[in-house]
Amino acid sequence: MASNPALFQSPTLTEALDLLAAIPGARPLSGGASLVAMMNAGLVEPAALVSLTRIPELRGIRVTADGGVIIGAATRHNEIAADPRLCGTAAVLPHAAAQIAGMAVRNMGTIGGAIAHADPGLDFPPALAAAGAVVELASAAARRRVPIREFFVDWYATVLTPGEIVIAVHLPKPKPGVGLYLKHARVSGDFAIVSVAVSLARDGEAHVAVGGCGPVPLASAEADGIVSSDLSASALAHAGDLLTALANPVDDVRATADYRRLLIPRMLARALNDCMAASRSVA
Ligand SMILES: Cc1cc2nc3c(=O)[nH]c(=O)nc-3n(C[C@H](O)[C@H](O)[C@H](O)COP(=O)(O)OP(=O)(O)OC[C@H]3O[C@@H](n4cnc5c(N)ncnc54)[C@H](O)[C@@H]3O)c2cc1C
Repeated sequence: MASNPALFQSPTLTEALDLLAAIPGARPLSGGASLVAMMNAGLVEPAALVSLTRIPELRGIRVTADGGVIIGAATRHNEIAADPRLCGTAAVLPHAAAQIAGMAVRNMGTIGGAIAHADPGLDFPPALAAAGAVVELASAAARRRVPIREFFVDWYATVLTPGEIVIAVHLPKPKPGVGLYLKHARVSGDFAIVSVAVSLARDGEAHVAVGGCGPVPLASAEADGIVSSDLSASALAHAGDLLTALANPVDDVRATADYRRLLIPRMLARALNDCMAASRSVA
């Protein structure tokens, strides 16, 4: 049986990054919601664990001078679900966070851990794609920023390199409008079979993304362009077809690939119609 790896509780970001650079096979630990389960199942055997949860720089949500929002990587799902500053078009994020698993997982899991884990059924990836997020990464050597639509590269794979971690998610200034996350799952709190994230600004700008239908969230500038200029039934159907063409779903215990493909245009149309109805009710 594998022995327990050494656990380092880093008080500063610099120390955590130095440890990850110095110990081959060391992994960052956030809430442990997924990593500890994978270790218990024998799927991963880290040489050491470097906990990120006590690093003040990685905690909490801040609004910048230009109105943008920075969410620290170690911010818990429940904090995101309850933050009133994530409003208007950015409301897609708390709406998605509130639908993740149950209360225990939402109190443990972090946004940085979730996107680094990159399970295709997760709720944050499509929500962040619709919100126009940019991910900030750091290693002992450098920092860089990557648009969320380029962050996920394959099944459980991201652009993160060894020793590099997610330190924050940056959102543009929320616009007046609506953000909505529609999740279809077997039961409340299960991973998504298909999910659709929408941000619809009052000025007409719209961004859409689909989860659960391939290794990375489905999103395209062309689909965004269509729903930004025309919200008729035929335009929504066209955007739905474009996103379905990008899908690469699998058959699994939750649903077949064909069923997932069938849901994409239907759920997209429903999500955008719900957004339009919500816009009318707040106007
Ligand atoms: C029972 C259960 C049900 C769930 N249901 C859902 C659901 O319905 N929807 C949903 O979206 N999610 C769901 N999740 C996943 C949940 O959202 C977790 O928060 C998420 O997987 C990450 O957990 P964590 O933040 O604790 O990261 P950890 O478990 O600590 O880490 C996960 C992975 O990311 C790495 N990592 C952690 N932090 C960072 C970082 N800052 N930078 C780089 N790498 C990092 C770790 O090394 C590890 O490989 C569920 C999890 C469980 C256990």
